[in-house]
Amino acid sequence: MTIAMPKPDPAILARRHEIAEAMRRIVPGEGVVAEPVEMRVFETDALTAYRQMPLCVVLPETVPQVQAILRWCHENRVPVVPRGSGTSLSGGSLPLEDGVLLVLSRFNRILEIDLDNRCVVAQPGVTNLGITRAVEHAGFYYAPDPSSQIACSIGGNVAENSGGVHCLKYGLTANNVLGVELVTMEGEVVRLGGKHLDAEGYDLLGLVTGSEGLLGVVTEVTVRVLQAPETARAVLIGFPTSEQAGACVAAIIARGIIPGGMEMMDRPAIHAAEDFVHAGYPRDVEALLIVELDGPAVEVDHLLAEVEGIASANGATTARVSQSDAERLSFWAGRKAAFPAVGRISPDYLCMDGTIPRRELPRVLAGMKALSERYGLAVANVFHAGDGNLHPLILYDASKDGELQRAEDFGADILRLCVEVGGVLTGEHGVGIEKRDLMSEMFGEDDLRHQIRVKCAFDDRHLLNPGKVFPVLHRCAELGRLHVHKGKLPFPELPRF
Ligand SMILES: Cc1cc2nc3c(=O)[nH]c(=O)nc-3n(C[C@H](O)[C@H](O)[C@H](O)COP(=O)(O)OP(=O)(O)OC[C@H]3O[C@@H](n4cnc5c(N)ncnc54)[C@H](O)[C@@H]3O)c2cc1C
Repeated sequence: MTIAMPKPDPAILARRHEIAEAMRRIVPGEGVVAEPVEMRVFETDALTAYRQMPLCVVLPETVPQVQAILRWCHENRVPVVPRGSGTSLSGGSLPLEDGVLLVLSRFNRILEIDLDNRCVVAQPGVTNLGITRAVEHAGFYYAPDPSSQIACSIGGNVAENSGGVHCLKYGLTANNVLGVELVTMEGEVVRLGGKHLDAEGYDLLGLVTGSEGLLGVVTEVTVRVLQAPETARAVLIGFPTSEQAGACVAAIIARGIIPGGMEMMDRPAIHAAEDFVHAGYPRDVEALLIVELDGPAVEVDHLLAEVEGIASANGATTARVSQSDAERLSFWAGRKAAFPAVGRISPDYLCMDGTIPRRELPRVLAGMKALSERYGLAVANVFHAGDGNLHPLILYDASKDGELQRAEDFGADILRLCVEVGGVLTGEHGVGIEKRDLMSEMFGEDDLRHQIRVKCAFDDRHLLNPGKVFPVLHRCAELGRLHVHKGKLPFPELPRF
């Protein structure tokens, strides 16, 4: 591992048996896994370069069990890592050697479908796609659609503020979550938001959305569902250069058109996806846009013509409009399978996630190309182009000495470039451990201190998911007087990774 995790506490490791027994008293039966061979399946998430066996795994089924687990761990100062389906690409659900892994996958029921209020109340372990499946018979769907939607949990989506190809028009998780039930590290149940549109007081729901399992454990989620559009059609548009495709994206938005989805892939990603899924992508282009328009049929036809006109003015060489829903879905199948498709052409890949102002796309693409040459590693690009959210996939071979380190350095430079052009370190995959050490590229010490103060207000002992997101572990009591003198942090004995 090249990214360091907090050193495990030997006193906690020595109590492994006692801790597992305490968990068994709370969750009887098969709800506790403590045998190394059985825990192996939990040792990593989708950031598979990092593996770490947990102290033990607990799979509660009820909210009182979650409360009791957290309360016991709080009293006994044992760290807890919440986990949904383990598809985090930033190592957010990577276990800790001296921590209990609290897995929410048995919280897998839809609790209420309330179409009068256009919402669904679900337990956190329900998959993202499971929500759409529950309401599609009535013509409704849940809009945020991460490519992992078949597997990732709605609780994980809330924790990561996940996005997807349809978030350009319909918003990220934060824009579609109406309420959550949260259990704090001290075992208190808190309800934030609900079916109503706005909550009283501070926007704590906004704070919890995207908090990466650091503030509490989500045990119930209320989401808005939307009526499926009357029509949706997609067009595949090919360009001789990525710069032209980028300019076309900007021109579509500048015309006032907000497509249901607007995605871009570069040549390596197009070929990998086409070889894998046979979506009908053109192979003789450098960049491909998939643009989907949805709404009443007459509006969709009109906007498609507009988009084709803009594309041709920006140098498009091919354009193919879907003629059936099956064909539209096949266009998306290639994009949604782009990550596994790239996994077929390289032993390993790192999926980065940065966001930039759309107009900076050509500059960042050129910079990435130069970095790719400098590091001697290939990169395949998949973007939520409309949102300016980049997903460069860095191809490497972990079995070659030093190649993981080189890939990570390359990735860090890409993210620095994103920040340099006015963007941010993450679009939708979270900070986790992957971008933790880059936080200071974007935030000053004061910014970080204020963020950690918020964390301390929820979890004063820093027991929930420690070692993630923040590059330094603080004792909360010390924050009031932290003073950095000539770049030297006080309290040097505190773990810094
Ligand atoms: C092939 C692939 C494609 C992907 N595509 C996308 C994409 O298009 N868009 C996107 O946004 N993401 C994408 N992801 C990333 C990932 O699927 C999302 O981040 C997802 O929201 C994680 O959900 P999960 O249930 O797997 O969470 P986990 O990986 O289990 O956990 C993620 C984080 O959430 C916390 N957490 C989980 N459940 C809870 C809970 N109930 N309460 C509190 N904290 C919790 C964990 O501690 C951790 O910090 C992709 C991943 C893969 C592998």
